[in-house]
Amino acid sequence: MEKSLRINKIKLYLIKLRLQRPFETSFGEIWDKHALLVEIINDDNISGWGEIVSGEGPWYSYETFEVSILIFKKYIAPLILKNDKINSRNTFELLSRIRGYNMTKAGIEMAIWDLEAKLNNLSLSKFIGGNKNRIKSGVSIGIKKSVNDLINTIDYRIKEGYGRIKIKIKPGWDINVLKKVRDVFPDIALQVDGNGAYTLRQHLDLLRKIDKFNLLMIEQPLAYNDIFDHSILSRKINTPICLDESIKNISDLKTAIMIGGLEILNIKPGRIGGYSQSLKMIKISKFFQIGCWIGGMLETGIGRGHLIALASLPEINYFNDISASNRYWEEDIIEPEWKLNSDSTINVPNKPGIGVNVILDRIEQKTEKVFVFEK
Ligand SMILES: [Mg+2]
Repeated sequence: MEKSLRINKIKLYLIKLRLQRPFETSFGEIWDKHALLVEIINDDNISGWGEIVSGEGPWYSYETFEVSILIFKKYIAPLILKNDKINSRNTFELLSRIRGYNMTKAGIEMAIWDLEAKLNNLSLSKFIGGNKNRIKSGVSIGIKKSVNDLINTIDYRIKEGYGRIKIKIKPGWDINVLKKVRDVFPDIALQVDGNGAYTLRQHLDLLRKIDKFNLLMIEQPLAYNDIFDHSILSRKINTPICLDESIKNISDLKTAIMIGGLEILNIKPGRIGGYSQSLKMIKISKFFQIGCWIGGMLETGIGRGHLIALASLPEINYFNDISASNRYWEEDIIEPEWKLNSDSTINVPNKPGIGVNVILDRIEQKTEKVFVFEK
């Protein structure tokens, strides 16, 4: 289907949103978060929305929001506007001339998927073959100042309705913490994320000890760019290894599968260049019986809508890191906000595209800069 979407305008909004509470990772604590929103507008004035999930600093990846703006302005927007045959299936290919910058590419690609689903009068979920009315929603909890603080937070999240808890770990905040968490919550569905903070050489004995905590998985314990050492670790521990940062493209995934470096894959469309790559990875993973779930990057309601559509695919078989709007934001920029059901799920909307209304006034209030590109 080489139908043109007739995109004639692109807007890139840099907004700043206040978090409910500071978000802590092994890299530090943040309170306000910039977000980059992409709006594409076609000849009939219909908009598609996407979000670029690059960070405040080059911690999760080298892509920061400032770098994304530069790449978007100088290379991505002109390429998209110049091409009359652009659609959801060929955008990644067209943008492959630009090496790297997967988050920036994913932001516009997802806006194109949203617009194309709307033009087909389908929800994004249905458009990509989703078959669920509700997706499994889990919550991710950062490193806290004290173990008590962590226990209280877990307790609060369980009472809110979350059925799966993920906690961030780092050297010095791992076995001792897990022991106390399991003392208080022996049966909760629990997994951990190391964000690359461990090494095989220094921490193998320690990592072996996590097997006794009955975890669903350990996510990215070793370096962000490693695949090989993970394959060694996977032979030495029983807890399934999930990769996040290390899998940036299909080639990484094939390598990891072939050398036995992962059993479960965290799919973040931003990390791997968007939806078309996500759909391919999900197919490959299914073929090799690798588990899949959808991870989050502190998205606004717009990015979250894209994640929810992806998580509605039948192959997604674990809890996702997709929480309700109020998990992160004082107020979201969409309505209705994403809400958690009592069975730890979030509803998949039926309305066309991402299926929620974008509150333009609120976006404008929170906008620091807007860039407009026209044909
Ligand atoms: Mg992770």
